[in-house]
Amino acid sequence: MLPAMRYSKYFVPTLRDDPADAEVISHKLLLRAGFIRRVTSGVYDYLPIGLRVLRKIEAVVREEMNRAGAQELLMPTVQPTELWAKSGRLEKYGPELLKFNDRHGHESCLGPTHEEVICDLVSRELRSYKQLPLNLYQIQTKFRDEIRPRFGLMRGREFIMKDAYSFHADAESLAEEYQNMFDTYCRIFTRLGLKFRPVEADTGSIGGNNSHEFHVLADSGEDLIAHCSACEYAANVEKAVSSRSVPQAEQSELTLVDTPNATSAEDVSAFLNMHVAQLVKTLVYRAVGGDNENEIVAACLRGDDQLQEIKLAHAIGADSVELATDAELISIGGVAGFAGPVNLTARVFIDDSLRGATGLVAGANRADAHVTGFDVARDLTDVMFADLRETRAGDTCGRCGGAIELSRGIEVGHVFELGTRYAEPMDVLFQNQQGKRAVATMGCYGIGVSRLMAAVVEQCNDDSGISWPANLAPFQVALITMGKSEDVFQASEKVYKQLLDGGVDVLWDDRKESPGVKFKDAELIGMPVQVVIADRSLKEGLAEFGVRGGDRQSMPVGEVAAAAMAQLQQLNRSTD
Ligand code: ATP
Ligand code: MG
Repeated sequence: MLPAMRYSKYFVPTLRDDPADAEVISHKLLLRAGFIRRVTSGVYDYLPIGLRVLRKIEAVVREEMNRAGAQELLMPTVQPTELWAKSGRLEKYGPELLKFNDRHGHESCLGPTHEEVICDLVSRELRSYKQLPLNLYQIQTKFRDEIRPRFGLMRGREFIMKDAYSFHADAESLAEEYQNMFDTYCRIFTRLGLKFRPVEADTGSIGGNNSHEFHVLADSGEDLIAHCSACEYAANVEKAVSSRSVPQAEQSELTLVDTPNATSAEDVSAFLNMHVAQLVKTLVYRAVGGDNENEIVAACLRGDDQLQEIKLAHAIGADSVELATDAELISIGGVAGFAGPVNLTARVFIDDSLRGATGLVAGANRADAHVTGFDVARDLTDVMFADLRETRAGDTCGRCGGAIELSRGIEVGHVFELGTRYAEPMDVLFQNQQGKRAVATMGCYGIGVSRLMAAVVEQCNDDSGISWPANLAPFQVALITMGKSEDVFQASEKVYKQLLDGGVDVLWDDRKESPGVKFKDAELIGMPVQVVIADRSLKEGLAEFGVRGGDRQSMPVGEVAAAAMAQLQQLNRSTD
């Protein structure tokens, strides 16, 4: 018989101490407990117990996607860049796209996502509206040359994603499938035992369409999400809209005042003895991508607000924005440290919170000077208002007036109504019911499968290690043998076989280690149920059984496998 699940033969290299380069708890624990090992920056091996968890996560995802009517296929990792040129995002995608030439000089890339490949496939096969709707998905390895891979599986360069793409004859059909996927995602994350939240998401520069991200709530999350304490409103701060009340000042004349060396908002408001919200902060940016590439623009907001750069990028029609250099600032008539909206030779975007505001202070575009009595409507022509500020905790919810709270989240899923953004350039055409050629409309739906493994650990851990939900643990039962007698091994082997016959994943710790080491490793790896066969109690025909972190109870050794199975059934019930 293969020694497959005997600890003494099993490849599970655990570490005594936290690895030095791991910052977040999931990264530390997955390394320490022998789930993963780093190969190079952002690239990992999944060791046997890591792969077992990954497969269990995949199984939940697959089961729910199939149940929702999606069909699984598998597309390649290597994609010809011609397809990316056709969709129009070869340049746009930037350096995250890893490109290389083959021996014939054909350029390829490692797929970071598969809109191009799936559109190419479907465009060749789609003829009629009768073939629609269609939802195709895969669970596949992606590569993105991330600038800052970190936190282990959380942000890798190579990672595993479930990506689905749906094709439709019209917008109603897309909306229906979007809701179907939204509900499916809720079921998946619930079955994975996660505390999660769907939030409205930024739709990028293509804009306009429906999009939600699913976030696992965790302090280590890289995303900030705003949610209302009173209603259901929740959005990524990249998109969240809110308001707050600010002290109003009297209307007065526009007056030039000396403010020597006062460049920061705090300096100016202290010097002029006014509330910092009455100061107009003017930031100058350069457009990156889009129709107005390299345009220099100014953004104005209240002195105590922060600019949300993605909102500015949308307002000016760019893919992103970068802070302008001093030379670029000077080129539009600004002065570093004293820039203001008056007399700039650039488009000026004003945050919505400054609508109708009077008695403001702004930079004068002269060294060591500001203007007071600034009135947006009176003193500027051609102003463009937009929501530019970053939502803060304590803001007022735009929907119900409740208080906004902020939480950190790990983005584990994303659903997106793409419309015809890819289908049109990629010629995904079909004959509609009226016999006319039409462009299919699309949705796409991603889940970070390998990131989920880290996200689960972020929520399920304690001082001893990982407390996996029973349906995800690499092994459901840790069978621990304590003692050296022939009897204790024979009794253990019997229980081991009973558990295996019952379909239970069991890791039998048959090593010649001390009980302390064995319990430590069992808790570190995180098997939810423990069965202990010890020399001393076996003499009285007894074994012990308990759940991880809880008390153990004694029972006749012949009953312990059945008790463990009953316990597991109970643990699994919540995630079926
Ligand atoms: P992020 O904002 O975190 O970079 P994204 O918006 O680029 O993510 P999508 O293109 O929507 O991600 O990809 C779908 C899913 O794939 C994400 O919701 C996330 O769970 C996962 N994912 C994306 N990038 C990575 C990565 N570098 N490592 C691990 N998982 C990732
Ligand atoms: Mg996303």
